[in-house]
Amino acid sequence: MKWRFVILATCALLWAGSIGSNGGFGAGAPGHSHAVTPEGFEENQAFGYLKKITDLGPRPSGSQANYATQQFILGTLHGYGISAEQDRFVAITPRGKISMNNIIAKIPGESPEILIIAGHYDTKLFDSFRFVGANDGGSSAAFVLEMAHALKQRKNLFTMWCVFFDGEEAVGEWSDNDSVYGSRHMVEELRRQHLIEKVRAMILVDMIGDRDLDILKEGNSTPWLNDIIWNSAAELGYQKEFVPRSFDIGGDDHFPFLRAGIPAVDLIDFDYGFSNAYWHSGQDTLDKCSARSLGVVGNTLLRALPRIEARLKRNPGH
Ligand SMILES: [Zn+2]
Repeated sequence: MKWRFVILATCALLWAGSIGSNGGFGAGAPGHSHAVTPEGFEENQAFGYLKKITDLGPRPSGSQANYATQQFILGTLHGYGISAEQDRFVAITPRGKISMNNIIAKIPGESPEILIIAGHYDTKLFDSFRFVGANDGGSSAAFVLEMAHALKQRKNLFTMWCVFFDGEEAVGEWSDNDSVYGSRHMVEELRRQHLIEKVRAMILVDMIGDRDLDILKEGNSTPWLNDIIWNSAAELGYQKEFVPRSFDIGGDDHFPFLRAGIPAVDLIDFDYGFSNAYWHSGQDTLDKCSARSLGVVGNTLLRALPRIEARLKRNPGH
């Protein structure tokens, strides 16, 4: 994503032990019958995926390691018995044409209407240093992979699409034309296939692996989605990780969905290392991330989902 304006959450960065912990699964909204199935987000498994992905090295779009990441994602989904589609396309970038691939895992729900949970798996290309993007590109891919596993065991109201975007990063300097290639392509495809009306909401994760996790409310995101997610986090004791303050990101994979009129939210911790020093640097490595941070976001989202479903069910259409 692009940096625009950040209020650094300095106080929140101080060490504080985990206030709450797991639990709360299945405690759905009153009167809503879709949240009784036991389910869980296995944070250690998610972290294992993160390690495997990071070990593949820099994964810019079009690279061998990017392709290996796709194969790892597809193989893991296959192992869970989750069907996945690939949407290969060619992006026109400042460095010429680059082949990209969005991966879409589809998990059945009661309704054919679609709820998307997404993150990117590519890493930004840097010529001057080795960028493995543990947090930026790795954490989102590992998270969505484990979330697919959790949702497979859940009774979903909507058809869940777990989406792995390629080409989130700008090839050169971030601009509207050089960024979020995968999500822009996906919205175009949804339009072309007349599926855009079926997409009820989109939840994006980006840079959620930071071991000092402090996620601020992203100001372009749909307010009711932010509110449900922050309330759910507070109930689980995650007030330190889901900070009740706002900031605006200049662009990320939720933007094309927002522009299409789809409610969307970006869960992003854009405070990575002191003054965000690890972001887009050689220091974005696995040791800066933790299983617990992935679990905090996973537990929160699973707790929020019944309420998001209930809200969308009450309000047909966007
Ligand atoms: Zn990035």
